[in-house]
Amino acid sequence: MRQGELLYTGKAKSVYRTDEEGVLMVEFRDDITAFDGGKKDVLTKKGSFNAGVSAFLFRRLQEEGVLTHFLGMVDESKMLVHALEMVPIEVIVRNVAAGSMVRKYPIAEGTPLDPPVIVMDYKDDTRHDPMLNDELIIALRLLSPGELNRVKEDALKVNRFLSRFFDSLGITLVDFKMEFGKLNGEIVLGDEISMDSMRLWDKNTGESLDKDVYRFSKGDVISAYRRVAEKILASGEQQEIRGSTGIMTKNPEGVKDIMSEDKLEEEILDWVRDYAREKGWRLNPEEKKLSVVIRGLARNQKKFGHRYCPCRLRSGDTEKDKSIICPCIFHEEEVRDQGSCHCNLYYQK
Ligand code: 5GP
Repeated sequence: MRQGELLYTGKAKSVYRTDEEGVLMVEFRDDITAFDGGKKDVLTKKGSFNAGVSAFLFRRLQEEGVLTHFLGMVDESKMLVHALEMVPIEVIVRNVAAGSMVRKYPIAEGTPLDPPVIVMDYKDDTRHDPMLNDELIIALRLLSPGELNRVKEDALKVNRFLSRFFDSLGITLVDFKMEFGKLNGEIVLGDEISMDSMRLWDKNTGESLDKDVYRFSKGDVISAYRRVAEKILASGEQQEIRGSTGIMTKNPEGVKDIMSEDKLEEEILDWVRDYAREKGWRLNPEEKKLSVVIRGLARNQKKFGHRYCPCRLRSGDTEKDKSIICPCIFHEEEVRDQGSCHCNLYYQK
């Protein structure tokens, strides 16, 4: 996949076209900024730490059935993603009061928020990202009511997963920001999930392990980012992190890895096509949606050795999870009763 023309330069990322229609390359740069660009620096390796952590989390979220724009890594700081029609909303989920919530409202820093608080801001630096509410979102035609529900559901699902995941690493996910976009009318998680966009506190010491270290000059930013990346690395066998932290060897195989994934995807596509033909069905006629499912199946095959439905949660119990190996035990009934299976793979003719 070749890097094409520069489409957009943000404060910390650049987005390039590629030679494949609908696929973009996002470069995570070493630039770091805070206070609407009022504070700026360049920190070596920061881009690759954020890219690696984002890639890891997007992958895991995809396995949990959240649609994300993530396709793969080209190298330690460049990610391939689906081109989305971005929604100009910053979706923030808060589990603990901190940051602007504490500055704006009468609540003490560190107060647990149960249920979590979702805040949506209009993404516009010139207006200092003003806060929205549901009615404003509808009035400004940023999202339809159905899409708004979907965004909130996804935001809470991502929060549940990330909170548990970070908890298992001895880190509290205090709050974080997401951005969503649309792909063929479907709501898809985009942008990044990194130390720049999350607030993370060490559960034992209370130390910040995120961009607050930079915002408020609390210490060595890169060593805080490295700590998070290393903890994540220790938790799994993720290639992106290994490459990006430089702890292990770099990842020059990144491109090849994507290629071999492509091959597996082709194989799976042939297989599901044959199966659909046998059953007298067809595959999802929307090519991009179909490719999201095929990619999910390929990832599961690579990671777990089975083509688990990408739209369902694995229990971790191999026996139990046999029921969700594609074609899963539910699909026939779903195609018959709803016209398509839950993963939007098989469709009635
Ligand atoms: P706060 O509203 O407290 O400043 O931010 C809440 C959470 O959202 C924090 O984790 C913060 O890092 C993230 N966040 C809010 N606005 C932005 C933004 O413009 N860019 C990034 N990267 N993260 C943001």
